Amino acid sequence: MNSNSARRAAIQAITTYKAGNPSFNFSETSPADIFGRNVFSDRVMRERLPKAVYHSLHKTITLGERMDPSIADTVAAVMKDWAIEKGATHFTHVFYPLTGQTAEKHDSFIMPDGRGGVIAEFSGSMLIRGEPDASSFPSGGLRSTFEARGYTAWDVTSPAYIMENPNGTFLCIPTMFLSWTGVALDKKTPLLRSGQAVNREAQRVLALFNVHTDLPIVSYAGLEQEYFLVDHNFNFARPDLQIAGRTLFGARPAKGQEFSDQYFGVIPQRVLSCMMEVERELYKLAVPVRTRHNEVAPSQYEIAPLFEPSNLAIDHNHLIMATLRNVAKRYGLKCLLHEKPFAGINGSGKHVNYSLGNAELGSLFDPGETPHSNAKFLVFCAAMIRAVHKYGGLLRATVASASNDHRLGAHEAPPAIMSIFLGDQLTEVFEAFRAGRTEDRGETGRRRINVGVETLPPLPTDPGDRNRTSPMAFTGNRFEFRALGSSQSAASSVTALNVMMADSLGFAADWIERELSNATPFNEAVQSFIRHVIEEHSAVIFNGDGYSDVWHREARRRGLPDLKNTPEALPVLVRPDVVELYERYGILKKAELTARRDIYLDQYCKTVRTEAHLVIRLARTVIFPAGMRYQGELAHTAAQMAAIGLESRVTTLDEVTGYVRLLQDAVLELEKAIASCDALQETEEKAAFYCQEILPLMQKARDAADALETRVPDDLWALPNYEEILFDK
Ligand code: ADP
Ligand code: MG
Repeated sequence: MNSNSARRAAIQAITTYKAGNPSFNFSETSPADIFGRNVFSDRVMRERLPKAVYHSLHKTITLGERMDPSIADTVAAVMKDWAIEKGATHFTHVFYPLTGQTAEKHDSFIMPDGRGGVIAEFSGSMLIRGEPDASSFPSGGLRSTFEARGYTAWDVTSPAYIMENPNGTFLCIPTMFLSWTGVALDKKTPLLRSGQAVNREAQRVLALFNVHTDLPIVSYAGLEQEYFLVDHNFNFARPDLQIAGRTLFGARPAKGQEFSDQYFGVIPQRVLSCMMEVERELYKLAVPVRTRHNEVAPSQYEIAPLFEPSNLAIDHNHLIMATLRNVAKRYGLKCLLHEKPFAGINGSGKHVNYSLGNAELGSLFDPGETPHSNAKFLVFCAAMIRAVHKYGGLLRATVASASNDHRLGAHEAPPAIMSIFLGDQLTEVFEAFRAGRTEDRGETGRRRINVGVETLPPLPTDPGDRNRTSPMAFTGNRFEFRALGSSQSAASSVTALNVMMADSLGFAADWIERELSNATPFNEAVQSFIRHVIEEHSAVIFNGDGYSDVWHREARRRGLPDLKNTPEALPVLVRPDVVELYERYGILKKAELTARRDIYLDQYCKTVRTEAHLVIRLARTVIFPAGMRYQGELAHTAAQMAAIGLESRVTTLDEVTGYVRLLQDAVLELEKAIASCDALQETEEKAAFYCQEILPLMQKARDAADALETRVPDDLWALPNYEEILFDK
């Protein structure tokens, strides 16, 4: 009997894979023809809405003004007709609960007309507010089940769109999700609130520079999404991949990513076809996807759209993840968004390119041409330095999850210590402030750093060499935050960045205003602010190798937090200064932050618990039997050889017996540990236990199993191995 039939079948299926008939070709339909086809966009609104209604809505969207509720019925009617023309039968309020997923509940447009027929109905109030039965979403005790009815509220700033299915389409309306008492139960609500906060404080700073703009200052995000694609047959033959999204066992392949032959390599045809269809679906939804390429690890890829206002960019990122998952299936592929599907090769992140600005002013992190704009730039940069120094732990907490823990701090992703990379040139400029107004510099001679008027040296538009090891890198006109995981929503991180920046910009405005009221000249006031930041907060600047042990020691010396794992990081959400910050800007109250910490800790526990159970099951039902069979064969051979008087060397038998025993021990210990963990009461305690006790035992089981994998005959091994999964397509 062959125990590895699923594995063989998977390989068989791949060798006989044939691409289906192409469903489209870009040479026939250009991206321009379909771009935004399924979006209730500004253009559609201008064409279809009465002028006054359009102008009112447009103002709300672009200026962030309160919506006039009297226009809702008209907008709803027009939106409904547009959607029905596009084949929609249903509508749904789309929201982002704290599970980190996208949630939707569909309602039909159709209502009985009382005469035996039906009419299509969609009123303003149905557009503005929905009442999904939300009792099953995590609320961290904020909303007891008897008053379960949270409600969804239309987010006017993110356009409605149509999703297609072979059997029809439906209308999607992006919404916030709140309790009746106004408690935020989702990721979008705090994000929108934080956008208002950072706009207010940024405008204060700009006003001091005498810069006035008609548009609000918004935060922009460009989200680079990494992912793996593997043949879905392997997924079916690997319960760990299928259920946990990552391999819990698997010996290192003979060849991994060490040849660097994958990064920017030629994209395999089947993968490229899949990417093109992903892009086509995203074009229809007006997601401005720009780049695609092979990533560092085998079978790893990246897709990146152009940056957009962060609220929209984050909604679009959810669409990108969903589209990748869906379309991959049509090509017999499985899209893995897990941060670390395979040990020993790179995991996947989601870089957040973050900036502040608007269409009139561009990026406020852009140095600009004139000394005046340079000075403004330096204030915004200084604000970021202060923000990350004060609230790096918060930023770390926003990327904490069981899956991202496998990536952060491994030698491929930025470490869990939050620091800023500025590049040498910009660091030098800031350092010059510390030294005072003037400074001697070897080659450059005597250079005056006098913000605003004198000879501030031209500032870098590109910091030169990219530093991939920094969690927060200045990249010319934006900051790139690299600690976010591939499967995570960027909402919590961008919310934190917005609030942290609001706080620091508010601090800058206060500082400069105070100096001005003491009759300090403007340029000196600005300088003294920058000097203050560099004196107090330069510990967070680090341009070296973030992966090195030296940096870990140095960071400790500088007093920077090193929150190594999720149970250590999440409590920062309720640190008194973080609570004060979020409450001061009306983002989240203490109870809401506490609920979030609890929900995320609970998710952490459930994730590790599920994986631990999978380890036990796979070890017992798949790996242990293979080891035992081989043991039997070896013992049999040894006995036969002894019977005919030949010396039998039993090294392999000893080895295999040893690993089988190790595996058995690890599984028994793991089982016991889970039981004692289940007996713990506090979530925080549980999470720490999963982290410190359960994960190492899972690793122990894995080590034994992986050793067996490299010894047990191939025909006895049931799980597809890393080579097969990563290199066959
Ligand atoms: P790289 O690989 O060099 O990081 P990519 O082109 O893959 O570059 O991604 C860069 C991302 O940064 C894109 O999404 C891009 O639109 C975005 N971006 C560019 N300028 C800004 C900006 N001012 N603010 C926010 N994001 C930006
Ligand atoms: Mg990048």
